[in-house]
Amino acid sequence: MDKADSADIIVTCPTGLKVGSNGLLRSVKDNGDGTTTTAWAERYPIATYLISVAIGPYLSFSDWFRYGPTDSMEVLHYVLPARFSTAKQSLPKSVAMLEIFSRLYGMYPFVKEKYGHSEFGSGGAMEHQTMTSTTTFDEDVVAHELAHQWFGDLITCRTWQDLWLNEGFATYSESVYREARYGVAEYQRLIRTRMTSAFTAQGSVFVTDTSTVANLFASNRVYAKGAWVLHMLRHVMGDSVFFHALQRYVADTRFRYGTASTADFQGICESVAGRSLGWFFSAWIYGERYPRYTLRWTAHTAGTRFVVDANLSQETHTASPSFFTMPVDVRFSSGSADTTVVLWNDRKSQSYTIDLAFRPVSATVDPDMWILREVIDPDPALPTILTLDQNYPNPFNGGTTIQAHLPQRSPATLEVYSVLGARVATIFDGVAEAGTQTWQWDGRNSAGERAASGVYLYRLRTPTGAETRSMIYLR
Ligand SMILES: [Zn+2]
Repeated sequence: MDKADSADIIVTCPTGLKVGSNGLLRSVKDNGDGTTTTAWAERYPIATYLISVAIGPYLSFSDWFRYGPTDSMEVLHYVLPARFSTAKQSLPKSVAMLEIFSRLYGMYPFVKEKYGHSEFGSGGAMEHQTMTSTTTFDEDVVAHELAHQWFGDLITCRTWQDLWLNEGFATYSESVYREARYGVAEYQRLIRTRMTSAFTAQGSVFVTDTSTVANLFASNRVYAKGAWVLHMLRHVMGDSVFFHALQRYVADTRFRYGTASTADFQGICESVAGRSLGWFFSAWIYGERYPRYTLRWTAHTAGTRFVVDANLSQETHTASPSFFTMPVDVRFSSGSADTTVVLWNDRKSQSYTIDLAFRPVSATVDPDMWILREVIDPDPALPTILTLDQNYPNPFNGGTTIQAHLPQRSPATLEVYSVLGARVATIFDGVAEAGTQTWQWDGRNSAGERAASGVYLYRLRTPTGAETRSMIYLR
């Protein structure tokens, strides 16, 4: 992708029509013969596909991007009369977008000229340099096209294979803008709307077959999955490192006002992060599909703490890649407390031992949706953890009921002990079925005599763990 070092756009058309184009408006000359000649001058380097001419019976209005104490830049809109009031409500948001993207990515790259919009008939929107052409004033579209001024116009994808450097970044920036303007919930809401589309992406984000426009611009791949790759990379790198890398990328004189490849962007990320990210790019950019995770786990007491034995496995339904190496968040919850651990997942069917301060009753894989993934519940009908409930009634006199929940069919022993550790009774000793099991204790010891009043412990043991609780017997 080559760039012209500058462009002059000179248009003669019937008087009364306005001409919108790139760069700065140099002159509008009435030729006295019913025609007018308009001259625009773009003095920043420009890819030829970003040159545009929009001609219409436009009404125009301007806002100002004040980027310094004494500096401001015109934000100029050419709008058809029928849409003027709509545009007047929507397009001034461009100024806040310019402020947000300039803060996060680096100063708007064409600040000595302008930004703006020219309305046109049909076909979406196009990020023409310094003057987007658009059919809609939708906030997300306006943010998308503006973000292209950094990703697409300032730094243009070097080859069409790298198109996600334009479209993935612009699509992701819609969420970045929403987060900065409206809060993180809006970021999450918008990026999650792209998830279904990203799931259906065919082939790799790095486009191998660029022979047709439809394949090249397949929106579920370079737009939706491209945006998701950045969403994931942000979590992998951490917020500050990620945005620092984007700033370094934008500021790099090898790329700005020129072009960059996927390898260039990866190199910047690795340099800023101080580690290789080949495992990430090879799977998510050069590979296809996404992982489907299954987490199996059990928990048992260990003194006053709890130990979780967990196993994480994944399937990808492709050989490219056969495995996604990723840090995977897992949130364990007791109902009232929760904690999120990061499982570094780089092997198939990987086992982990996790120490917790509370008894977990549930575990959620990637609870905040930082990974393009599906999660398969091992068996939703069964508990994933061995749990021993409090007996009822308690205290008791005649008899009491004890329930436990087993993740799988297994040998089990339920015994009653005195507080001094002497075994008083064996309630169950056999193979217990998976699911909820119910037992009774009538307060009699193994000799068939009624036990003394007092506190007793009841203990359930299985090969994967043991649980103990106490109860009060009153005669
Ligand atoms: Zn775009």
